[in-house]
Amino acid sequence: MSVSSDSIKIVWIYPDLLSTYGDQGNCIVLERRAARRGISTRTVHVRSDESVPVDGDIYLLGGGEDRPQILAAQRLRADGGLHKAAEFGAAIFAVCAGYQLLGSEFGGEEGQPVPGIGLLDIRSGRGEKRAVGEIVGDVAPELNVPRITGFENHQGVTHLGPGVKPLAKTVVGVGNGDGFEGAYRDHILGTYMHGPALVRNPGLADLLLRWAVGHEIQPIDDSWAGRLREERLKAVAS
Ligand code: GLN
Repeated sequence: MSVSSDSIKIVWIYPDLLSTYGDQGNCIVLERRAARRGISTRTVHVRSDESVPVDGDIYLLGGGEDRPQILAAQRLRADGGLHKAAEFGAAIFAVCAGYQLLGSEFGGEEGQPVPGIGLLDIRSGRGEKRAVGEIVGDVAPELNVPRITGFENHQGVTHLGPGVKPLAKTVVGVGNGDGFEGAYRDHILGTYMHGPALVRNPGLADLLLRWAVGHEIQPIDDSWAGRLREERLKAVAS
């Protein structure tokens, strides 16, 4: 392994509210893939009664049920730490409820509009039918990430404004509900994919690591992750 002086701080936001479907696995994948490049990591778990540190390099938000999602949005807005970190250029990776709450608005437990925290130009509402199942998407070419796979389980549909681009074109599944899945701008990226997403899509994990260290990182053997991807793609096709 080559020696690297890179060191990154990973911040897991609100494990007490946003942690469904094993999304915390995203932290572990980032730590392991960084370590395999000689990049040292420090991970902090920030509960919803604590303030969000502004000196993180990668912030992770997971999925959650409707009420914890509303509470998380209120607390993040009042705290302001995530906004500051975003201004400083930190990478943010948010899944499902975490993705929706980064926008200007999302649907609450009765479908009522709930204000989001305004970091992404997206607006979510309640769809007619819950989207549950496998999702496959072809990622925007400029991100240089191969075809992504994940598992979605959400009621929300998401409209993208001009300030963001879709993460991927949906090949299987629902995603945002408009033929696309997820959204990003600068170093902020949201997706409907659980899985956990970074376990199933190491290319996305490496994109976040590249953003965090600010340069290319060396390729590593991905045969295990590749087998999982192939298995999921085959299961979806059959
Ligand atoms: N409560 C949101 C929805 O159903 C998010 C669900 C989730 O995080 N899986 O759209």
